Amino acid sequence: MPNKIEHLGIAVSDLEASEKIFTDVLGAAPYKREEVESENVITSFFKVGENKIELLQATSEDSAIAKFIATKGEGIHHVAFSVDDIQMEIDRLMDLGYRMIHEKPKEGADGKMIAFLHPKGSNRVLVELCADK
Ligand code: ZN
Repeated sequence: MPNKIEHLGIAVSDLEASEKIFTDVLGAAPYKREEVESENVITSFFKVGENKIELLQATSEDSAIAKFIATKGEGIHHVAFSVDDIQMEIDRLMDLGYRMIHEKPKEGADGKMIAFLHPKGSNRVLVELCADK
């Protein structure tokens, strides 16, 4: 089962400008920037206590983040829950009838293995499962 909110993902169109905003709001600079080539995004991570904020900017037009911003505008993109055993969690949810975007975990940013649930089955909230590698 998920044991905490690992991070909130926020879709932004100007990473530099958004890093400044969240540095002001959180009182600390991002601790890392990382490009995830398989997702066509560049990410920036902030710590908030034991949770994190992940800013995501598209690096190409066919990125899911570019499509999200084109249809919905900037804003909260996904909620990521931390799990101990990600494949077990994927299997548990699929057994309950939920549709996964990733039926096998894939490499995500910040040293995590990740999998997304299909948002149509979860109140249009995109849910990410993530576990340490
Ligand atoms: Zn994320």
